[in-house]
Amino acid sequence: MDAQDQKRLKTLLLKRRREIFDRLHRFESDWEALSERDIEMEEEAQKADLTGIFDQLDEMEQNEIEAIDRALTKMASAGYGTCEKCLRRISLRRLETLPASRFCKSCTQKEEQRTRL
Ligand SMILES: [Zn+2]
Repeated sequence: MDAQDQKRLKTLLLKRRREIFDRLHRFESDWEALSERDIEMEEEAQKADLTGIFDQLDEMEQNEIEAIDRALTKMASAGYGTCEKCLRRISLRRLETLPASRFCKSCTQKEEQRTRL
């Protein structure tokens, strides 16, 4: 993978990450508006932290953020684009569809077959 491709994929990952977090911030501000209206909620409000808000994302989004962060870390250490299982290169075509994928197509298929059994 050349630097140009990686740069493009990194942009995709960061964009997707921002979209998810934008949703998260909307949750946060909705929730602040709610607690301002209702003082009795204040105590509850203090108990809640960012983790609580993070929990409001559905599981898929949480997994996606984690996958994106992992992919970005791999980019920083030059391990990006390599299957974590067989260490072969993941095709550029696959990365363009799923920039955060950790495994190549054949390892993913094998894993899916295994978990289905
Ligand atoms: Zn593989």
